[in-house]
Amino acid sequence: MWSRKTAQQWWLGESSARTGIMARGQQKIQAQQKNAKKQAEKKKHGNDQKAAAKAALVFTCPVCRTQMPDPKTFKQHFESKHPKSPMPPELVDVQA
Ligand SMILES: [Zn+2]
Repeated sequence: MWSRKTAQQWWLGESSARTGIMARGQQKIQAQQKNAKKQAEKKKHGNDQKAAAKAALVFTCPVCRTQMPDPKTFKQHFESKHPKSPMPPELVDVQA
C-alpha cells in the first residue's frame, strides 16, 4: 500500500515528466509554426520574377507570355521571337 505522500510524490514526478514531454512537443510545434511563417513570408516577398521562376521552374516571356522550363530555352525564344524587344536582365547572363 502506498502512503498518501508516496502517491503524491509519484504523481508530481509523473506529471512533471509529462510536462517536460509536452513542453518539448510544444517547442517542436512552435518551431514548425515559425518555419511555416517563414515560408509564407518568403512567398509573400517572392514578387521577384527571377525567384518565382526559379521556384516554379518556369520562365514566362514578358512579351508573349509563353512559359519555358529553363533560361536557355527562354533566351533562345526571346532572341528568335522578340529580337527588337529589350532582353530581360535575368537573361543577359544566360549562356544560350
Ligand atoms: Zn515570347
